[in-house]
Amino acid sequence: MIIDALEGLWNTILDVTSLFVMPDWSGLIALLPILIFLGVVGPLLTFFALGTLIYQVRKPRVKVSYEEGPRNAELDASGQPVYPAGLPHCRRDALVYPSGATRCDVCRQDLTVVCPMCGVGRGAELDTCGNCGLVLRIEQRGLAIRRGRPKPGGAAAA
Ligand SMILES: [Zn+2]
Ligand SMILES: [Zn+2]
Repeated sequence: MIIDALEGLWNTILDVTSLFVMPDWSGLIALLPILIFLGVVGPLLTFFALGTLIYQVRKPRVKVSYEEGPRNAELDASGQPVYPAGLPHCRRDALVYPSGATRCDVCRQDLTVVCPMCGVGRGAELDTCGNCGLVLRIEQRGLAIRRGRPKPGGAAAA
């Protein structure tokens, strides 16, 4: 009698245990689409959110550089680009940049500036002419952008 009772109890324990140990495959398969959704769409959403964040962070800089951006160099009678003296320019893209720019937005090359006094070209990041010693006052690009923000289209510093 006691052994029968113990066997019955043991069987009950086994049944209960098997409920927890045996995986519920049909339940897992039903969850599979949700798992796939989380595994594929989750990272996509994360990348999308990251991309949006990066875009939002970078957007103001792009906008400002567009407003203050380069303009195409004017062409002379023979079709050659003419670069105003004292302004940074990129000969590769025939672009003229506002004062203070040192790097081409298009080709990322260092810009060139022609000395207004002697006409000798040099790197735009140099403020002193190596030939005649004329010093061009170069505003740092960051400073110019900060100054330009409150009133876009306002008077540029001479
Ligand atoms: Zn360029
Ligand atoms: Zn010079």
